[in-house]
Amino acid sequence: MKSKGVYLVGAGPGDAGLLTLRGAELLRLADVVIYDLLVNPALLRLARPDAELISRRKRSELPQEEINALMIEKARQGKTVVRLKGGDPYVFGRGAEEALALASAGIDFEAVPGVSSVVAAPNYAGIPLTHREFCSSFTVFTGHEADEKAALLYSQIAKIPGTKMALMGTEKLDEWTKAIMASGLGPETPAAIIEWGTRGKQKSAAGTLAGLAALAKEKNFSPPALVVLGEVVRLRDKLNWFEKRPLFGKRIVVTRGRSQSLELSQKLAGLGADVLEIPAIKQVQPENRQDIVDAMLALNSYDWLIFTSANGVKAFFDLFFRNFKDLRDLGGAKIAAVGPATAAVLREMHLQVDAMPEDFAANKIAEQISKLGSIENCKICLLRAQDANPDLPQALEEFGAIIDDIAVYKTVAETEDNSGASADFLEHGADWMTFTSGSTVRFMHVRFDLPKLMKQFPAMKIASIGPETSKMIRSLGLSPTIEAKEHTADGLVAELLKN
Ligand code: SAH
Repeated sequence: MKSKGVYLVGAGPGDAGLLTLRGAELLRLADVVIYDLLVNPALLRLARPDAELISRRKRSELPQEEINALMIEKARQGKTVVRLKGGDPYVFGRGAEEALALASAGIDFEAVPGVSSVVAAPNYAGIPLTHREFCSSFTVFTGHEADEKAALLYSQIAKIPGTKMALMGTEKLDEWTKAIMASGLGPETPAAIIEWGTRGKQKSAAGTLAGLAALAKEKNFSPPALVVLGEVVRLRDKLNWFEKRPLFGKRIVVTRGRSQSLELSQKLAGLGADVLEIPAIKQVQPENRQDIVDAMLALNSYDWLIFTSANGVKAFFDLFFRNFKDLRDLGGAKIAAVGPATAAVLREMHLQVDAMPEDFAANKIAEQISKLGSIENCKICLLRAQDANPDLPQALEEFGAIIDDIAVYKTVAETEDNSGASADFLEHGADWMTFTSGSTVRFMHVRFDLPKLMKQFPAMKIASIGPETSKMIRSLGLSPTIEAKEHTADGLVAELLKN
């Protein structure tokens, strides 16, 4: 594959799943990503951690000339630049101008098509663009044209049969709908408006052409939104698959660390939720590295290795494979995994799990493991987070075991807000905050002062993955509305679906 140069990549309309494979491939390669407000920030997770991410959330932040100059400058430095644009790069949005600027600067470029909001947003609002019985064409126009050009455009649009779609049409909605009616398009023409189409925060409404401007005003529609006019709008009641999803319209905060949030976020988004990813925590190397090095060299001397989280497993094996090439160097100790998610990561590595306590309470874990044979005088290596709860080693010691409590990672607060999600959250709140560990609660509180936030948004509810997490929530004087029965992402989602 060719790299270096500039790639004008269509990011799709908003639903992260609608990025093309080529787009994903290039995002993974990029040294620099320049993206717009319309781009779903969840896509940036595909970029390398060291890629330079340049956001343009407002037009004024980075004027068009500066974007052009920036692309050219970075490309001349020998970097692979992805210019990520909403929808398709060549459907409005100045993609062609950017390509021309590159061409005249002699910069190699490729333009990668994207799924345009033109087709995707109506679809997600239950509106097909064509249907044999209703129309045999569709037309796309801008609702933002000025003066004489506008008058001519709208008079032409009014006369074309078939479905019509206006992009950038919210600000001057009243003006252009009146103009096309004056040119002969029937006021009773079915009309729909769709804001943030294909995203969890999608909003749509339908009525007639004559009533559309008032409807949009009453319901507070604002850009980015597009308008669909035509008989196909009538199919909406039957075809509205997206807005009928069970969690549609629910804004749900995922506080899990960035590297782990994907599973939960995707599940929630797949059920129609508007997912706000605000990672509360991230994992870093533990402060004391000597203990882990010593434990690695003595792995053969342990009777049990106990993992208490999927993070712990990943962090341990990252370090392990830095020291050893062969999994057999793990030795013959039995392996215990607390909870199904922890066990699942071990099984992915084809390691058998000898004990899987489902209950996270320390005494229950110790009890479960000792059921498989006395652990008196057994050497146990606990591989878990730095500063983890002392209950577990104590409980195991009560059964006579000899414990090495080894920190394989440390959890610290995540403070970055690349996507703007936490600023958005502070302003608008959410329907649900989900917590998947005590540390997500603790660090969200450090960042946001949770009791204060709950006062500010009294309708917001808290979802907890299990009793240990709930304990931490209660220690702040708050209480979870729901607690998952099975302590996994699936269990949490199942409980959210019931509410
Ligand atoms: N290249 C983009 C369009 C850029 S022009 C594409 O192919 O989709 C910006 C306009 O596109 C917005 O004003 C709005 O009318 C429309 N638009 C873009 N994304 C949208 C979305 N997710 N939902 C509704 N309209 C959208």
